[in-house]
Amino acid sequence: MDQRIERVYETVVTRNPVEPEFLQAVREVLESLEPVIASRPEYSDMAILERIVEPERQIIFRVPWVDDEGHVRVNRGFRVQFNSALGPYKGGLRFHPSVNLGIIKFLGFEQVFKNALTGQGIGGGKGGSDFDPHGKSDMEVMRFCQSFMTELHRHIGLNTDVPAGDIGVGGREIGFLFGQYKRIQNSFDAGVLTGKSLSWGGSLARPEATGYGTVRFAQSMLGTEGDSLEGKTVIVSGSGNVATFAIERAQAYGATVVSCSDSSGAVYDSAGIDLELLRQIKEVDRGRVADYAALRPTAQYHSGKNVWSIPADVALPCATQNEINDHDAARLIGNGVKLVAEGANMPSTPEAIEAYREAGVKYAPGKASNAGGVATSALEMQQNSARQQWSFEDVCAKLDAIMIDIHDTCLATAENFGHPGDYVLGANVSGFQRVADAMLEQGVN
Ligand code: NDP
Repeated sequence: MDQRIERVYETVVTRNPVEPEFLQAVREVLESLEPVIASRPEYSDMAILERIVEPERQIIFRVPWVDDEGHVRVNRGFRVQFNSALGPYKGGLRFHPSVNLGIIKFLGFEQVFKNALTGQGIGGGKGGSDFDPHGKSDMEVMRFCQSFMTELHRHIGLNTDVPAGDIGVGGREIGFLFGQYKRIQNSFDAGVLTGKSLSWGGSLARPEATGYGTVRFAQSMLGTEGDSLEGKTVIVSGSGNVATFAIERAQAYGATVVSCSDSSGAVYDSAGIDLELLRQIKEVDRGRVADYAALRPTAQYHSGKNVWSIPADVALPCATQNEINDHDAARLIGNGVKLVAEGANMPSTPEAIEAYREAGVKYAPGKASNAGGVATSALEMQQNSARQQWSFEDVCAKLDAIMIDIHDTCLATAENFGHPGDYVLGANVSGFQRVADAMLEQGVN
């Protein structure tokens, strides 16, 4: 990194010493920005880098709630409002025991550039809690969500900050959160949350959007060489929202998806994942992928393992951050994987990304390939403002157009800056320039 960028990074390290995921995300972006910082001195003159790495606002709050046995429980809630240069803060809420301020900051930082890439006028933010919805009753989840929103409501709003779902926050949680917001505000502000149910302001194709968009992005990457997903073997990690819809869309493009996983273990299904069975187990029975393998004769379950040793042409990590390390990347490469497109946020470690680069594996970072989720959230906000509901086909067509545009923008930017085919540089530089130019025009704030 050049000296000025290195100094910015050192300040981030000093200010945030115990937040490794945040430092990892910042470093990855800063490393890409050298050519653009060199060619635009006004960015340095106006301290754009120094400002862009510092969240505009960080909120931490207590979330007390009462469990089914009548015991008072206490969790910690977060909302990091990272950058509003392009529009209201926008980004999901994550409920998972691993959540802490550093995790939310890494996700919020990534969100700033991802949202810029969509071209939709949304700033970046992220939030969540260390609450674990696994094993909780619906009533416990409801009481937690109501308590969480009782504090969060004062920080969000239609034109201020619009949260959505992420790990552990799906349609059920968004419903409870919205109900409490509406009650406190005495106002049906549909556009204050996205990922809503269809009958009260949700968008068709929002649940599908992140997984579908990731696969659409992978299809475009293969398309640059006249290839496609048709006939390919694909490995997917995770078995939640992003993973299941990535599996669905990859199958629709003619690929065979042979894996899924959760934090307990991995499934290899030689006949291809039976999505109907997986959904029944995960969404209706709220079970685990081990239960899928137990009911599916062609599937094997590997407790405590991940999916990266399964031979495939394409890998779609759709579970969580840093789920592919250098050893996993070596196995992917050894098994002939030619393309990695991230459905999750930051699932590949820096060492894994370096290994892809050296081996010539096509690689799309999550901030580009999984942007379809937030892009469709912005489409949901548009429908809410216009009091309209667009058809599934309409939303999918807009989503596909956005994904193709992000893909082509990343490629063109990488080419312009002398790094053809480098989607990391393409995504970071084009997202950064959109935010940085808006910050320049809005003065020092
Ligand atoms: P879900 O909660 O629906 O699913 C998460 C899945 O990942 C679960 O199957 C979970 O298993 C699994 N998982 C979590 N940790 C691990 C682990 N260490 N090893 C293996 N599997 C694990 O979340 P989403 O599908 O919404 O999110 C997945 C990823 O996609 C996240 O990185 C998220 O930030 C990103 N993303 C999501 C968007 C969205 O629209 N939902 C938008 C853009 C990005 P278990 O049940 O055991 O925890």
